[in-house]
Amino acid sequence: MKIAFIGLGNMGGGMAANLVKAGYEVRAFDLSEEALIAAKDAGCETFDTAREACAEAEAVVSMLPSSGIVKAVYTKDVIGHAPHTAVLIDCSTIDVATAREVADAAHAEGYKMVDAPVSGGIAAAAGGTLTFMVGGEHHAFDAAQPILAAMGKAVIHAGHIGAGQTAKICNNMLLAITMIGTSEAMTMAEKLGLDPQKFYEISSQSSGYNWSLNAYTPMPGVGVESPADKDYAGGFATALMVKDLRLAMEAAEGAGAAVPLASRAAALYEDYLGAGNEAVDFSGIIKTYS
Ligand code: NAD
Repeated sequence: MKIAFIGLGNMGGGMAANLVKAGYEVRAFDLSEEALIAAKDAGCETFDTAREACAEAEAVVSMLPSSGIVKAVYTKDVIGHAPHTAVLIDCSTIDVATAREVADAAHAEGYKMVDAPVSGGIAAAAGGTLTFMVGGEHHAFDAAQPILAAMGKAVIHAGHIGAGQTAKICNNMLLAITMIGTSEAMTMAEKLGLDPQKFYEISSQSSGYNWSLNAYTPMPGVGVESPADKDYAGGFATALMVKDLRLAMEAAEGAGAAVPLASRAAALYEDYLGAGNEAVDFSGIIKTYS
């Protein structure tokens, strides 16, 4: 089966390589020459334009940086250029309204389309262990499912088009809140004279149990191994967390949802980003409490 893959960056590069390993013929396009060379090394066929990559494709997968780019790529180079029988799968994290708008344009031309953002970072993309949250009609989900399964450990049908993006931003909004809450509680426990490791042992088995504490402990040398133990390198960059929080705040406003804690978390992460921490793992925010 021929799959066009557009956007071969940190995430897309590993994902496309996993499709090759699963036996798909991957037709790759990226604006970056370096990304195209890496894709070729991984066994993809590379093309000079997105349109050429999409010609003959039975599926199109994209992993792009922003809503504006996704909209431009689909409306200019995918819709009307890929065969109309192709299933279109956008794995980028973008706003819900754009995901629906692009899918409407695709549906009008007879395409099946899903939004399929991911949970998991660069290592999960390379290792084929991403979790996909998928929005779209059943027949579109069924067509996308085996392709997504070749790149991940879980493929969950969230609901109608846009439901994948909704799940993604609500999940990451919750993550921002739990990371800040965990950072505050660990630092306060330490300031009150409690050994942070003891706090971890107790709270990780008590009602304070949460992913940020249990699986991604933000204090170096405490709890599980995490980016904190590598001076907050790797992991999930603060710039990406802020991107997701901006999408969440926009969506909350549009939906009239009350998000007082998430608004505060978003403001704290904006400040942390502004202090030059774009590339620092998002758990580094704990340092602002010490
Ligand atoms: P990246 O910047 O490393 O890769 C994006 C790629 O898209 C680049 O290679 C760029 O050259 C290419 N590109 C940009 N415009 C293009 C165009 N018009 N046509 C073709 N290619 C184009 O970003 P990434 O980290 O791989 O993230 C991709 C998406 O995945 C984003 O939406 C991000 O929010 C989401 N995401 C990232 C992570 C992560 O840990 N990096 C985790 C979950 C979700």
